[in-house]
Amino acid sequence: MCGIVGYFGKDTKVLDTLVNGLKRLEYRGYDSAGIAIVAKDGQVFSKKAIGKIVELEKELEKSDISKFDKVGIAHTRWATHGSPTLDNCHPHFSQDKKIWLVHNGIIENYKQLKKELESKGVQFSSDTDTEVIAHLVQSFYNGDLKKAVQKTLTKLEGAYAIVVVSADEPGRLVAAKKGSPLVLGVSENEYVLASDVSAIISQTRNVIYFEDGELVDIKDGKYTITNFKDAPLKKKIEVIDWDDEAATKGGHEHFLIKEIMEQAKTMEDSCRGRIVSKSGNVRFGGLNTVKDKIARMERVVILGIGTSYYSAKLAELYFEDIAGIPAKAEMTPEFRYKNPYIDEKTWVIAVSQSGETADSVAAIKEAQNRGALVTGIINTVGSTISRITEAGVYNHIGPEISVASTKAFTSQSIILLMHAVMLGRMRGLSLRRAKAILEEIENMPKLAEETLKQNSNIEKLAEKYHKKNNLIYIGRNYNYPVALEGALKVKEIGYVHAEGLSGGELKHGFIALIDENMPTIAVVPQDSIYEKMISNIEEIKARSGIVIAVATDGDKEVADLCDDVIYTPKMKEEIAPIINTIPLQLFAYHVARLRGLDVDKPRNLAKSVTVE
Ligand code: GLU
Repeated sequence: MCGIVGYFGKDTKVLDTLVNGLKRLEYRGYDSAGIAIVAKDGQVFSKKAIGKIVELEKELEKSDISKFDKVGIAHTRWATHGSPTLDNCHPHFSQDKKIWLVHNGIIENYKQLKKELESKGVQFSSDTDTEVIAHLVQSFYNGDLKKAVQKTLTKLEGAYAIVVVSADEPGRLVAAKKGSPLVLGVSENEYVLASDVSAIISQTRNVIYFEDGELVDIKDGKYTITNFKDAPLKKKIEVIDWDDEAATKGGHEHFLIKEIMEQAKTMEDSCRGRIVSKSGNVRFGGLNTVKDKIARMERVVILGIGTSYYSAKLAELYFEDIAGIPAKAEMTPEFRYKNPYIDEKTWVIAVSQSGETADSVAAIKEAQNRGALVTGIINTVGSTISRITEAGVYNHIGPEISVASTKAFTSQSIILLMHAVMLGRMRGLSLRRAKAILEEIENMPKLAEETLKQNSNIEKLAEKYHKKNNLIYIGRNYNYPVALEGALKVKEIGYVHAEGLSGGELKHGFIALIDENMPTIAVVPQDSIYEKMISNIEEIKARSGIVIAVATDGDKEVADLCDDVIYTPKMKEEIAPIINTIPLQLFAYHVARLRGLDVDKPRNLAKSVTVE
């Protein structure tokens, strides 16, 4: 989830607009940044720097760029393919250095395209997926940038928003979108293209939002919008009334709610190009080198802490149920101080959003010392954990800014489920079940979207319950980790004391806490353990407890039994816990907001815990 900017306008403004635009988009990625400006005479000026935008600014201060012209592109990167090095930093360019472009997204078939280009003698200068686009545009270029881009797009699979310039046509910008966001800001003789309006708003409030399959050509000071096949399109100019701060948060009050709301998209990004539905299989490029080893493993250990530990708890169930292998979730701060049963037949999967968690780094080393195969599920490309593990899979969901993890949890859980299917297929999981799970995974963005529509109902519930200082969360089997995660969320950001429990655990102690002041949030989808959960809810109701249920759409029985209900769609048992987490995230968010707390930066917490 990088940030991209393109500018056409005044030569005095090009640099400032690009750099300021990047600063506004920094929340989308910040491992490296770069710009390219095309001069009237076709010279291209480019600067890149590792790290945040300030590093790029330092580079720019050192250079004289006065002679450069009206058009430029810029990028702040959140690496998906290739670590955050200068070579991998955008803008990327063709071999003749005439075509330059910035890209947000993932080109799924880049390996195949790269092979084809290399066989024709093209030399690559980075490890990114993006670079193939530059070489393809060059190969099709015949004096018309738009035509070359259009031909290139027919070759690309995956997601992209791109802005392309050519040294042979100074003053021209061509941009296109499929699967990644792109907006055009329109003012007199000036145009700004960007990943979102935050990079545009200081320039103009008149914007055009692009849909997938649309392309804009800015040439001779005018813009034309077409589809990829060149059919002209008429697009409405919309007027933005957000303030600057809201713009960075996509119009939301906090990053947390923005991140919760974008989960349909991040779920899709986590799976992109990884599911081979026909053969009921999963393809993780990052695990290719260790696939044979994985097939020989006799047990699985999933390492995590905090929210990642709860996705590990869920994965423990996935591996046993789907792959038929003994599996255990381990909390990393405890792991190295015990004598864990780990050997060379153990596949250890380390889960970390930041890839820098000190406790997890130590636990990984411990597992490696004991001879285990350790792979990662990490969101930050090039992070410590991604470097010390033997292989791994990236989340591809862009940076998570808010301290409480939301979109990382759902992404980790989906990827772990896919790991279980992959291993299952090596261990006799039927094609039928594998296909059914994978089809439902592909359907998850829709299920998430449906669930997110409950936001205003959940807000009303939060209004009713936000003053409660104690909450109990219950779930069973797949929904037990959901109860744990739901309780953690409201503790972290709402400062509410909450207990996450198995429904069955309740009567072994915790039920003593139930009275008319204690609300219980019960995750009770219509699944194989539904009747048991209903009994647990009855036990609470018999003691005058308040019950708020997360239940399957249309479940009357639960509605009659409980005080309040949040409905989620009917879905397969394996998928339900991931989707059922969303209402609990929303509930915690609204509780925290109504309690007047600093939702994005809760007290005493840090996003990435790099100390033990
Ligand atoms: N795939 C590109 C890269 O790694 C763009 C990344 C993104 O948009 O997230 O450089």
